[in-house]
Amino acid sequence: MSLIDTQNVKIDKYQLFLDINPVKTNFNGSATIFFKTPLNGQELGSIKLYVDDLILIDYKINNSDSYNDSELDITNHTTTLPLHDHCEISKITINYIGKISTISTFKDKTYGIFKTNIMNESGNANNIVISTHCQPNFASKIFPCLLNSKSKIQLTIKTLSKFKVVSNTGVLQSQLLESSDERMVTFKETPYIQHAVFGFTLGDLDHIQTTVTATTSSGESKKIPITVYSPISIQDCSFALDIIAKYFAKLNNEVFKKNPYPLDKLDFVALPFLSDYAMENHGMVSIQMNHLVLPKLVKNSAEYQQMEQLLCHELVHLWMGNYISFHWEHLWFNEAFATYMANHIIPNSFQSDDYLTNYHATCLNFTTQNTNQKTIANGIPTHITFNSTTDQLFNPQNYVKGIPVIRALVEMCGFDKFIQSLSQFFTNYEEVIDPKEIFEKNGIADSYDWFVSQWKECPVISVSKESSTNVENSPVYKIKGISENDAFPVFLNGGVTLKAKDLMLESNRAVLGKTFLFNEQGHGLYRVKYEGHGAIQNLLNNLPKIAEFDFYAILQDLQHFINTGTNINKYDISLPIEILTRMVSSQEIFVTLKNHDNNKNYTRAICMILEILEKIQLSVVKYGSGNATEPILGVDIYNNVLKPLFEIVKPQLFDTEMMEFLLEDVSEQEWSILSHLIFLLKTDEQVYEFSGAVIKSILSGRPIKSKIPMEIVGSCMASYSYGVDNVKDWKKIFNMVKNCEPYMHHIDYNSMDFQSVKEASFYMQNAITQNIGFVISPSIVSKLLNFIYTNIESTSIELLLFGVVFNQKQPDLKKLVWEWYQTNFDNIAQRSLRKGSKDAAEMLKTLQNISLLVFSMFLIEDSSKIDQFIILKHSKFNQDLQLDKIWALVKEREMHYIMLYQLLLQVKYDL
Ligand SMILES: [Zn+2]
Repeated sequence: MSLIDTQNVKIDKYQLFLDINPVKTNFNGSATIFFKTPLNGQELGSIKLYVDDLILIDYKINNSDSYNDSELDITNHTTTLPLHDHCEISKITINYIGKISTISTFKDKTYGIFKTNIMNESGNANNIVISTHCQPNFASKIFPCLLNSKSKIQLTIKTLSKFKVVSNTGVLQSQLLESSDERMVTFKETPYIQHAVFGFTLGDLDHIQTTVTATTSSGESKKIPITVYSPISIQDCSFALDIIAKYFAKLNNEVFKKNPYPLDKLDFVALPFLSDYAMENHGMVSIQMNHLVLPKLVKNSAEYQQMEQLLCHELVHLWMGNYISFHWEHLWFNEAFATYMANHIIPNSFQSDDYLTNYHATCLNFTTQNTNQKTIANGIPTHITFNSTTDQLFNPQNYVKGIPVIRALVEMCGFDKFIQSLSQFFTNYEEVIDPKEIFEKNGIADSYDWFVSQWKECPVISVSKESSTNVENSPVYKIKGISENDAFPVFLNGGVTLKAKDLMLESNRAVLGKTFLFNEQGHGLYRVKYEGHGAIQNLLNNLPKIAEFDFYAILQDLQHFINTGTNINKYDISLPIEILTRMVSSQEIFVTLKNHDNNKNYTRAICMILEILEKIQLSVVKYGSGNATEPILGVDIYNNVLKPLFEIVKPQLFDTEMMEFLLEDVSEQEWSILSHLIFLLKTDEQVYEFSGAVIKSILSGRPIKSKIPMEIVGSCMASYSYGVDNVKDWKKIFNMVKNCEPYMHHIDYNSMDFQSVKEASFYMQNAITQNIGFVISPSIVSKLLNFIYTNIESTSIELLLFGVVFNQKQPDLKKLVWEWYQTNFDNIAQRSLRKGSKDAAEMLKTLQNISLLVFSMFLIEDSSKIDQFIILKHSKFNQDLQLDKIWALVKEREMHYIMLYQLLLQVKYDL
């Protein structure tokens, strides 16, 4: 059933009268419908209106007598009213009865008019709240209407006089009735709105209020009262009220200053139950209570930030969605825009890990992983039925994709120009629009189309340039990975934006000559691969001009290429090494920690480079020479980059003279840099000495006088255990594998998010277990292996093997591990395969994890040994061991380390 009105009837206004008594399950209603142009009953014959769960009593045409036709029957949620040959019909009045549903659990759907009883603070009386929820089509449970158009609504409610009554607009008139326990409240007429955002709330409501000085379109100022209503705990709504007032002012007086908020008040109402959690009724937003009434809220906590996001999202709807409105099939745009704009007005949102992981990265990955739903358009429900709820019309994937897409498109227009272009739509706000019209106005309808219907997967732009000169007639970049029709926006340095298809035009040659960065601010929804000496040198020469975030974005792409092994080449390895080399020797981009200026704080980028270098080191140590200090691509990074960086970083976090960590004001990421460096340099004498001091201080509180930051415990253990060669020292550190709690008072974990000491100690135990196996003395390794065997029933015991596997190239280790594995395998396998035992199932998992690690040691040399072993054991026991699957998994997982090492070899011999 199409909900688009085919009768060509336009409704200007609904005048509603509702009689709502909280003890009844029904309400009485009367709706007078005023038409934009009078109807001709002789021509039309009848008019169809949507009704849902309403019982119609009678109706009048203009001021006629009441009709009570048998055709008041309702089929398919529509009623057909005969027009009885009236001409010049300007209004129809319908009397009806509707339902008030009672909501008492989160499972109950809150559509139409609904009532909830809620216990108040004293716990001995019931507070009543009656409210509405009309999105998308449920206004037809409140009054007969046409859907998918905008009309004015004027509401009068008769209810108990003790109740507070609020609706979209302010109160025009409130009048006590003769009985005096009842009251009649008439609200001001709304502007043209969609029925979806019509609403009212009445009941035992408390409120808190503030006023915002709002700028009007003529530049004058007026006071707009902002009120939060709640049936309980109104004092816990003050954080919400502050946030609403702050961001309302920002949206009204800055972002949308040319088109200010059209109403003269704004309410937020906390409801005990609300499907969809939040509903942006125009002028009266309702929010499910748990998201608004928050006691003991800590400013800037994750919970606070969530509320900030939600409230800003709803505030944006007052302009985009309510003021300018969209057809239902563009719900993804309506919702994604509200979240995009919320992120835009909340400082630093777009660069937060939350945004990058949940929206940006998810958006890039969706397109490559999900082949069923490649574009946004494919996800639009084509069949919208009358009873569709918002969550059925709403495709969460398209919402998530939509946010970065809108961001890219708006940035392409330029934010200010984009906002200016909305003026025309604010002026013509009576009609619902297609969002494409906005981008058409900005000249980028083709880019919008590209995202909505052509986008197949995340593009990779490979930019290559061999020569590094910037002379106008020298060869500019070669660009691969885009087709000549692609209109998606590419963001170059200096705020220059081009459509991909225009990038190689002769007329853009000069622009391209000055380009060194191909995705400024990470606005673009594509990945960039920098290849060729020239492209890399251009980046390096311009490093001081590149903002921290742009660094980070380059490295994120790089990490993706390395992790997935997609077309990696020598430039993918040389880029992070060269960047870090420059940073270590440069004054301009000196590595300063504890610097909270976003543009000068490179911690995130450095962390990522070090993660990439750890991968490269691992591939050399496991699959190459086994020597962690081996030069990479001819650069002695161990001695010339990492050691100097350690010398720069360590004094900023540790006072050698005082023997204490400078624990104040250090972020998790900054500790993480130190931790990565310790791990990468773990065999270095100086680092070993430092790690030794750290581990001894965890055990005994000496020689380091301060607490030890949790973040470096694991890497210090890896470094320290390398050198442990006597049983006495070994026993001391090994106690921590069994229980960390006795040592927790020596540990500082303030920058990490633990709920209890126990949780923190468990985390530390894991870190110790994963890193204590870096010991290389064969006699100690034997002890370690025996410990694993005797404690095979403990979960995660296999973590002890991590270090041993890492050090597999050390003399005798491989042989030791294989003998141990072969000797004990049958016994563990037998115990693992006992039927019906839960412990056995756990043990099987442990055996498989151990096999995974052991097999990886024989992947390059002796892989036939593993093949034979698997055949032998499968025939002796049975296929339940699934060793063949484990073996396949090892091959798949280790492949990119092997590829990485092969790449290093190729380059070495090409040189
Ligand atoms: Zn929304």
